[in-house]
Amino acid sequence: MNFQFSEEFALQADAKDPLKELREEFVFPQHGGREALYFTGNSLGLQAKKARQYLNEELDDWATFGVEGHTESRRPWLHYHEFFTEKLAKIVGGKPEEVVAMNGLTTNLHLMMASFYRPAGKRTKILCEGKAFPSDQYALRSQLRFHGFDESHLIELAPDPETELITDERVLAAIEEHKDELALVMLGGMNYYTGQFFDMKTITQKGREAGIMVGWDLAHAAGNVPLQLHDWGVDFAAWCGYKYLNSGPGGVSGVFVHERHLGQTDIPRFEGWWGHDKATRFKMPDDFIPIPTAEAWQLSNAPVFAMTPLLASLELFEKAGMERLRQKSIGLTAYLEFVVAEVKKSTGADLKILTPKDPEKRGAQLSIIVPGVGRKVFDAISKEGVIADWREPDVIRMAPVPMYNNYEDVYRFGKILEQSLKNLN
Ligand SMILES: *Cc1c(COP(=O)(O)O)cnc(C)c1O
Repeated sequence: MNFQFSEEFALQADAKDPLKELREEFVFPQHGGREALYFTGNSLGLQAKKARQYLNEELDDWATFGVEGHTESRRPWLHYHEFFTEKLAKIVGGKPEEVVAMNGLTTNLHLMMASFYRPAGKRTKILCEGKAFPSDQYALRSQLRFHGFDESHLIELAPDPETELITDERVLAAIEEHKDELALVMLGGMNYYTGQFFDMKTITQKGREAGIMVGWDLAHAAGNVPLQLHDWGVDFAAWCGYKYLNSGPGGVSGVFVHERHLGQTDIPRFEGWWGHDKATRFKMPDDFIPIPTAEAWQLSNAPVFAMTPLLASLELFEKAGMERLRQKSIGLTAYLEFVVAEVKKSTGADLKILTPKDPEKRGAQLSIIVPGVGRKVFDAISKEGVIADWREPDVIRMAPVPMYNNYEDVYRFGKILEQSLKNLN
């Protein structure tokens, strides 16, 4: 597409968008009597309009049936998590039996590491990205301590000081270098800070060839880019529901466990009754018989109200399909990149983009740096109704989300950014 930084171009691009109707399915925060320019779907996705209806239905069913709602309500609570499985499996490229919706992300990372971080002999270490999301760092370090290891067992790949990125080659070389001492490789598939998308397939293959477990935190990847977790051979993955998947604040996370690990009784695992064989669950036997799917990792019965909004969103993912969303996303993010470059030209401002230029190496998000005056610019655009995300020391993270953002949003953001930069001078 030949981009232009004009309203006319943006409106035309939107008119041609096959997914344009999806925007109408979401509720936007308001600013000055119109929709705010919402670019933080990478942090908290918007509310699908159907979420309210579905939540009300659950409240009604609870009122009507009480405990019998477990079996009698329109979406019986006994099986509630099952309503999410196929839809999530499509989004992450897993088989339905490999996927389950449960808990929060960090909880799930711990549950996964309980099973798949199995230090033994010389293989005791974990490879992760330097400057990982704080919760992941805490989870990794506390897992090490839990097994009696100190932090020297965590190999953190420092980002390149120039680009702040960690190249795939760097990760592969680190696996090669440490292959005899690694028990686990666990990385964020899409870096939350830079928006870099790792070559998950190649990294997974490399780790597995060396006999190392490979797990991924997909907080910023699930619902953002197409994934093929099964085909890539990923051992496990977990993601949160409230970013690109629009589950609402603190909404339920998802987990992938490769089929090669399913149906095993001798796997180390923290167990609960919701992971036990469905046929005998209510007979309350002493021995745990794992469900032969990823559901074996469930501990508790499903938190229905925390899951319902996700259902409304997943129906839209099913309608749109990850491939079409990705197609639109590549265009929309390239347009944002173009608009930032145009604003740089017209204002002479020092604007930089941290995120890789190659569309294959990124998703929706761009991380923009305005050296020295970043915070001022961020405050100025916020006043004009741009909802973006500030990360210390100087990064503005923005994600035009293909599910509900459009070219006009990006154009209007560009005009506001341009004016804000001019006002600084
Ligand atoms: C958002 C995010 C989290 C958040 O963890 P919760 O357990 O959902 O609070 C963790 N890790 C990464 C990489 C994230 O982007």
